[in-house]
Amino acid sequence: MHHKTIAELAACLRRGEFTSTDLTRRYLARIECLDPHLNSYISVDPEGALAAAGHADVRLGRGEGGPLTGIPIAHKDIFCTQGIKTSCGSCMLDSFIAPYNATVVERLEQAGALVLGKTNMDEFAMGSSNETSFYGPVRNPWDVRRVPGGSSGGSAAAVAARLCAAATGTDTGGSIRQPASFCGVTGIKPTYGRVSRYGMIAYGSSLDQGGVIARTAEDCALILQAMAGFDPRDSTSVERPVPDYPGGLDTDIVGLCIGVPEEWLGTGLDPGVSAVVTAALTRFEAMGARVEQIRLPHSPLCIAGYYVIAMSEASSNLARYDGVRFGHRCQEPADLTDLYRRSRAEGFGTEVKRRIMIGTYALSAGYYDAYYLKAQKIRRLIADDFRRAFEQVDVIMGPVAPTPAFLLGAKTDDPVQMYLGDIYTLSLNLAGLPGLSIPAGFSADLPVGLQLIGDYWDETRLLAIAHQWQQTTDWHRTAPDFEP
Ligand code: GLN
Repeated sequence: MHHKTIAELAACLRRGEFTSTDLTRRYLARIECLDPHLNSYISVDPEGALAAAGHADVRLGRGEGGPLTGIPIAHKDIFCTQGIKTSCGSCMLDSFIAPYNATVVERLEQAGALVLGKTNMDEFAMGSSNETSFYGPVRNPWDVRRVPGGSSGGSAAAVAARLCAAATGTDTGGSIRQPASFCGVTGIKPTYGRVSRYGMIAYGSSLDQGGVIARTAEDCALILQAMAGFDPRDSTSVERPVPDYPGGLDTDIVGLCIGVPEEWLGTGLDPGVSAVVTAALTRFEAMGARVEQIRLPHSPLCIAGYYVIAMSEASSNLARYDGVRFGHRCQEPADLTDLYRRSRAEGFGTEVKRRIMIGTYALSAGYYDAYYLKAQKIRRLIADDFRRAFEQVDVIMGPVAPTPAFLLGAKTDDPVQMYLGDIYTLSLNLAGLPGLSIPAGFSADLPVGLQLIGDYWDETRLLAIAHQWQQTTDWHRTAPDFEP
C-alpha cells in the first residue's frame, strides 16, 4: 500500500480496503526499519500519528472527510509544530518546541492529513545537499553514497523511499525543485505569496515560499489546495482566490507554447541531463506543444544577486537567535555580550556563520550600495527578463540542476561550487515565480528532473502540464530499489 499515490490511497481508504491506522502503521514500520540508512527524519511521532489516524478512521467510517483525510504526511522541520520539536536542522533549535502551529501545518491538519514526523534539512535551509544539517546528512535512496539535494533533502528522500505519502518543503532558491529532481519525485514551489509563511522559520523572507514534494502532480495539487490561500498573519501572503488545482489537471496541452532559455542549455550542463531535457521537449512536441527558444539574458547574474540578497536577509532574520528568547543558551555567561557571542558561536554551524558574516558585510553602511542595492537591481532585471518571456510563451522549461545527485562530500569544502549548482533555480525565487520539477528520465541510473516555470499565479497550468506528462510517462512510478 505504501507504493500508492495519495489519490489512490484516498480511494482505498474510502472503500475500506484498509484503514488509515493500517497505513500509518505501515509507514511507521518502514521508517523504523529503513530510515536509519537514510536519515530523512529528524523526529518521528508515532503516538500522535496513530491517534490522528484513529480519528480519521472514525470520520472515514461515517463517510465524512476529504481527499486528505487519513493520509500520512511529513513536514520539513522548518514548519513550527506544536508539541513536536522544530529544529530547522540546527543545534540552535535542538530543544525548541513551538507553542503554535504554522499556518501550513494547521491547514493540512484541518484537511485531515496526519503527521508522521519532521524531515531533515540543511541548517536553516542553507544548502543544496542536506549536508549542513546538525543531524547529519540525508542519503539519496537511489544511491546512498549520494546526496538527496537540499535544503528539503529529508522530504524528498522520504517521499522517494515511500516513508510518507507526501511532505512539505520550502524553496528559497531551489530547495523544493532540486531535491525533487535528485530523488525522482515531483515538487512544486508556488508563486511568492501563495502559501503563508506564518510559522515557517525565516531564511530569506523575500524569497522563501512553502510548497510540496509528492510522487505525482495530482498529489501536489491535492496538498497545495489545502495549503494555499491568504493568511492575515503573513503580511506577504496575497489575498487572491485559490483555484481548483485538482479540477484543472485534465486541461489539454495541445497548442501550448513552451519557451526554452538559450542560456540554460549551453556549457556547464551535464550531457546526461541535457539529453533528458532535450528528449522531454521532443516528447512535449509529440503531445501537441510548440517549442520556442527564448532569452533570459540576465540569468547568469542570478547566483551573485541571489546570494547577496539571501545572505543579507538571513543575517537580519537570524539576529533573533541571541540566547535570550529562543533556542540554545551558553553555560554561565559572564555578561550580556558573552551570552550573545557564545550562544551564537555554539548554536550555529559553519555555513550559517559564513552567511551571517557575508550578509552583515553586504548590509553595512559602507558596502550597502555596492552589494545589496546592486543585487536588488539585478533582481529587477531578472524579473523583467521573465516578464518579456511570458509575453511570448505560456511556460518555460529547462533543467533543474546542472548534474544529477552528486557524491556526499564532493562539494563540502568548496561553498562556491555548491552555490553554482543553483544556477537554474534561483532566478525564479528572485522574480517570485512558480516552478515545478517532474521526473523526466535517468542519467547513469540517477533520476533527472525537468523544470517547468509558470507566470505568476499559474500553478494550475503547471500542474496540468505535469499531470498530462505523467499520464504518458512512468518515471514518477519508478521506485528506488532501496532495501538495504
Ligand atoms: N541552495 C540555496 C541556498 O543555499 C537554496 C536553498 C533554499 O532554497 N532554501 O541558499
